[in-house]
Amino acid sequence: MSVGTGATHPAFARDRRSARPERCELCGTPVAARHGHVVDTGRRGLLCACRACFLLFTRCPAGEVRYRAVPERYLWDPRRPIAGLDWHGLGIPARFAFFIPCGTRVTAFQPGPAGVAETALPPGLWTQLAAEHPLLATAEPDVEAIVVRGGERGTDCFLVPVDVGYRLAGAVRRYWTGGDGGPELHERVGELFAEIGQRARPLR
Ligand SMILES: [Zn+2]
Ligand SMILES: [Zn+2]
Repeated sequence: MSVGTGATHPAFARDRRSARPERCELCGTPVAARHGHVVDTGRRGLLCACRACFLLFTRCPAGEVRYRAVPERYLWDPRRPIAGLDWHGLGIPARFAFFIPCGTRVTAFQPGPAGVAETALPPGLWTQLAAEHPLLATAEPDVEAIVVRGGERGTDCFLVPVDVGYRLAGAVRRYWTGGDGGPELHERVGELFAEIGQRARPLR
């Protein structure tokens, strides 16, 4: 789904949610409109899951199982806000971006006219930032993302379920116009960040 140079990040290789299945993609049980998701680390995609399957793959250690439930938590860190300086250190020119830790690698996803471009962060940069910002280190590999948005009031930074990243990428693909994304995209992104902000709880 993403457009960028180099290989597609595994988490983006398949997004089957657009098919809007009404069944759990693991066991076939019908699911409600609002349901959980699991990451298939083997085929690299996101699957819709019933409650039982979701719980089965909750808190599974990374690397030991094929399926991993996407946590439902949203967090922010009131004590260690991401400063503008850190933001620029990441080399992100766009107004928002998200990051998915995957094993020891961290991939940055940045929106642009061609879709969402992926870049691997230089080794060490994330570790260095995470040492000062525990929120980054809290993100579970493969199943959680860090989203950041620069604004006039500073930089917002949240830990979110990885499928929120898909929603951001989907908005970019659908609404981006012109050189900077255009008003409709920024409105949609603003709505999504408002929703994230409402759901987010402080990191303890
Ligand atoms: Zn199921
Ligand atoms: Zn689903």
